[in-house]
Amino acid sequence: MKEIAKDLITAANESDFRSYPKEEALCDPCLGRLFGRVGTGFTNAERGRVIRKRFDVRHEGPCSLCGGLMDEVPKFARLVESALSEYEYETFLIGSRTDQEIVEKEETLWSDLRLERAEPIKAEINRETGKIVEASTGKTVDFERPNIMAILDTRFDFVQLQVNPLFTHGRYKKLERGIPQTRWPCRECLGKGCERCNNTGKMYQTSVEEIVAAPFIERTEGMSASFHGMGREDVDALMLGNGRPFVLEVKEPRRRSIDLRAIEEEVNGSRSVSIDGLRPSDRREMVRMKEARPTKTYSLKVTFQEPVEKENLNEVVRSFKGTEVAQRTPTRVLHRRADLLRRRKILEMDAKPLGPKTAEIVLTAEAGTYVKELISGDEGRTTPSLSGLLGVPAVVDELDVTRIHESE
Ligand SMILES: [Zn+2]
Ligand SMILES: [Zn+2]
Repeated sequence: MKEIAKDLITAANESDFRSYPKEEALCDPCLGRLFGRVGTGFTNAERGRVIRKRFDVRHEGPCSLCGGLMDEVPKFARLVESALSEYEYETFLIGSRTDQEIVEKEETLWSDLRLERAEPIKAEINRETGKIVEASTGKTVDFERPNIMAILDTRFDFVQLQVNPLFTHGRYKKLERGIPQTRWPCRECLGKGCERCNNTGKMYQTSVEEIVAAPFIERTEGMSASFHGMGREDVDALMLGNGRPFVLEVKEPRRRSIDLRAIEEEVNGSRSVSIDGLRPSDRREMVRMKEARPTKTYSLKVTFQEPVEKENLNEVVRSFKGTEVAQRTPTRVLHRRADLLRRRKILEMDAKPLGPKTAEIVLTAEAGTYVKELISGDEGRTTPSLSGLLGVPAVVDELDVTRIHESE
């Protein structure tokens, strides 16, 4: 205590603290808080006792600044503990709302007495309440990314919790066509339920999102979940190979330690979607994932309007390797996207005839390539196209994504 006492008294002497009205009482924490940024490792109550002794500040009677609020900190801690007890968490942070009148009184004191190293009352309430909660629960205060934020309203003895999401990373494969990646609200009723959607409110019965999220929501007792994929494939495309990375975000989970292996097994029992590599993740990784633009490899089944010579097909296919194609927004998505011209690089392309008018085509292309249009030409909106170079109309019958090139 001795080493800080000198600094405290110097700080008080350098300010106009001496003119603090003798008839007004201050409690220990409020008095010490006026010099709360002098020295570290001490409570404001300890600072207050040093200042009181030297400057003889009145103690009896209600505190003229907080009116006794600082005495209620143990009660605030109990309120927070009780609110948190409904949830599983490792880290937390306390914030608070206090009477505006106290905040204004405090700020007036700082300027009237020229106090330059004072601490706001909210900061002290948050810290002191946090210390008690840490000691009684064994959990830790985390300023950066707490599991739960408890907002304490000291005016109404009310605690509002902000439960942060639980993020899990994994990879998924889609083994059945006709399933969108995320829930797709009905176009007619926008989710309310109508005749067209059979009162489901959805365009499709289910989605990768719903299949993966269900066991998570059940086990975490969360409110809802959001599925964040590294890009997405068409509804009618399969997602095969090494699978597509995703982060699942469960909102307001009550449980956080969940059996990821059991969730994997449950999802994999669905047959239309399989997942693996589940592990804890965080918001940063989720954001990175949404911004990633990975190169992809596709496998296509293509039908030609007329028979195509094998040599001719191979020659044309090989000519795409390393070239850039120019694509205007496809006619099939023009109703919802602007008509733009984009250029994308085709890295690899190979063909294997399956019959005189059908072939399997494997190609690797930059993110954002319109693959179906690369084959059909989309009435000249994509150039060059397989159809254009062959001089034979061609369409994609089946499209599968066989590899996501994550680190390239
Ligand atoms: Zn006080
Ligand atoms: Zn509907």
